[in-house]
Amino acid sequence: MTSIQNNIELILKSIPKHVKLIAVSKTKPIEEIKEAIKANQYAFGENRVQELVSKAQQLHKEIEWHMIGHLQTNKVKQLLPYVHMIHSVDSFKLAKEINKEALKLSTTVPCLLQVHIAKEETKFGFTEYEILELLNKPEFYELKNIRVSGLMGMATYTQDEKIIRAEFSSLRKLFDKIKKDYYSDNENFKEISMGMSNDFKIAIEEGSTIVRIGSLIFGERN
Ligand SMILES: *Cc1c(COP(=O)(O)O)cnc(C)c1O
Repeated sequence: MTSIQNNIELILKSIPKHVKLIAVSKTKPIEEIKEAIKANQYAFGENRVQELVSKAQQLHKEIEWHMIGHLQTNKVKQLLPYVHMIHSVDSFKLAKEINKEALKLSTTVPCLLQVHIAKEETKFGFTEYEILELLNKPEFYELKNIRVSGLMGMATYTQDEKIIRAEFSSLRKLFDKIKKDYYSDNENFKEISMGMSNDFKIAIEEGSTIVRIGSLIFGERN
């Protein structure tokens, strides 16, 4: 067994059954993805449209491709035929574009709204104020070809557990509030995508349902 398979088995043993593992394969070659598939890993995450599409075209259809990186509206059309879920919806404009292209394909795309929870300036996502503003727009609910499935967030890159825990906890609280106020009768709104190689254990303790793990499976990226 290769280390990739071994790493996946170790992670799966350490996370509860209800938490979904996405293997983040960005920058990694097809051969390494095939190793992960041998460990029965079928959900992969990519942050660039071109790379996701190219890998999807080279591998068989059962694989779920998750778009986890910032998505430009002009790339949506190219992405949609291959993507299983978009974790990084961070504007109304992007949501409208995904809806428009999904309608053309007669499909519905599961989407997560990305929330900015970290201290860093560079991370994309809605602020809490902005997401509530979005959810208060009647036009948002006219987008019938996106399925709003929950929230996604990234914690600050730090060794300080307290900061990470507080950020994940704030995302969980926001999820609970949104669920109660906007999606209480909608069973699709159920996911909290949070947790990466360095912080997934804390994320799970704070209520994550999807973890996105790259370097712990495939090794450090260049
Ligand atoms: C790269 C990336 C990950 C995985 O990061 P690791 O630290 O390698 O586990 C998770 N989520 C997003 C959005 C990423 O861009």
